Amino acid sequence: MTKDNRVSNGITLDPENWTELRALGHRMLDDMIDYIEHVRERPVWQPIPQQAREHFRTKLPHQPARLEDAYEEFSRFVAPYATGNVHPGFMGWVHGGGTAVGMLGEMLAAGLNANLGGRDHMPIEVERQIVAWTREMFGFPDGASGLFVTGTSIANLLAILIARTAALGRATRQSGIAAQSAKLRAYTSTSAHICVAQAMEIAGLGTDALQKIPTDERFRMDIAALRKAVAEDRAAGLEPFLVIGTAGTVDTGAIDDLLTLSEICRQEKMRFHIDGAFGALAVWSPELAPLVRGIERADSIAFDFHKWGQVPYDAGFLLVRDGELHRDTFASPATYLRRETRGLAAGSPWPSEFGPDLSRGFRALKTWFTLKTYGTDRLGAVIARTCDLARYLEQRVRTEPQLELLAPAQLNIVCFRYRADDTANAKIVADLHESGVAVPSTTIINGQMAIRAAFVNHRTQICDIDAMVDAVIRLGSVAASR
Ligand SMILES: *Cc1c(COP(=O)(O)O)cnc(C)c1O
Repeated sequence: MTKDNRVSNGITLDPENWTELRALGHRMLDDMIDYIEHVRERPVWQPIPQQAREHFRTKLPHQPARLEDAYEEFSRFVAPYATGNVHPGFMGWVHGGGTAVGMLGEMLAAGLNANLGGRDHMPIEVERQIVAWTREMFGFPDGASGLFVTGTSIANLLAILIARTAALGRATRQSGIAAQSAKLRAYTSTSAHICVAQAMEIAGLGTDALQKIPTDERFRMDIAALRKAVAEDRAAGLEPFLVIGTAGTVDTGAIDDLLTLSEICRQEKMRFHIDGAFGALAVWSPELAPLVRGIERADSIAFDFHKWGQVPYDAGFLLVRDGELHRDTFASPATYLRRETRGLAAGSPWPSEFGPDLSRGFRALKTWFTLKTYGTDRLGAVIARTCDLARYLEQRVRTEPQLELLAPAQLNIVCFRYRADDTANAKIVADLHESGVAVPSTTIINGQMAIRAAFVNHRTQICDIDAMVDAVIRLGSVAASR
């Protein structure tokens, strides 16, 4: 094609034949709904064949190819070798199962191709609706702000940056933090997620400024140890400014004593942030909500709709009590003072003033569809049910002589082991993954390798747990007899 006829020939990326595209699109949708409906019939996970890997190591395509062919490659090489978290046998880490409803919401969002950085359009009102709903969920005031982000890792980072602004003042956005930050101290438990330490690094405060407080026998932050650390730091001339509590630790599902932590923060004039990645949504279950009592007193809460909330990845969220402080941490006056009051450029404040992202996708839509379709009562019941499943597994482990419980079921997580050494237990878990029967993960509990099952997926049933336990015992007898 010559440069001269490019303008006149109407070249775009739209299909030449919409009827064909429509037919293929319908087939893709049918295939994917089938995939979800019949996921139980597949292995949870399977190792990626070398041929599939090779297939994704080709040169950059310069020439067009048929969508049908690309779809064929997806069907053969990608879909069968996905993570497996859609499958009821997935019990590893903390992964949500997603829903077909959420998938459809994501598809509609992609069609609108909205940019939720700012401006005056309805998709932003959908996100504002979710912000209002999260305020309601956690008993936060009207002035509280909220923002969709990728996940809790980023939400925790933003919360630490906001706490940094609270401690050092807005002027440090210009001056940098070097001069004033050296004395700041934050506190979290040794069971906190690794992303908390990482956020301290990225925020320029460094991990030396993060005190890891030991945990009690239930893996919760030891309150007496926290009080002592804060007092000692004050005596040493340091400035305690932030406590990061966890509602649902990754290892064991432990929930810090949020009420007492909020009280200590009030007395000591520290900010209180909660990493509630999955546990925060316990508020949807009347039965579990008392476990996170005190969450309503936090200065900020980070959590994921993509874990217990079953919204497809990714849908992390940050809720901040003081919306002005939140905006002061990220907004650039240069852009928002010029804001229009009418036309598409209106709609202030824009979501981009509450975080570092300017272009933002429409994560709110799949979340809105999920909340509208199921309602928080049903979602809360699904969450409570995952905890019932953990108690069932705990019981089964107690009755199997070859198995040993390493941490009692807290919330939805159980840590146990086959009575053999760490190497054998690691082997059992890897064998189990490769068998396609179930996917638990591992962790270290009191110095011992544990098989860790976390129930997050709404599809998991008692039969999936039985299949996992039976396989552990079978593989364990092989692993231990080597
Ligand atoms: C999953 C998790 C995180 C990280 O959240 P992402 O959404 O993966 O970024 C942080 N803290 C806890 C307790 C978690 O369970």
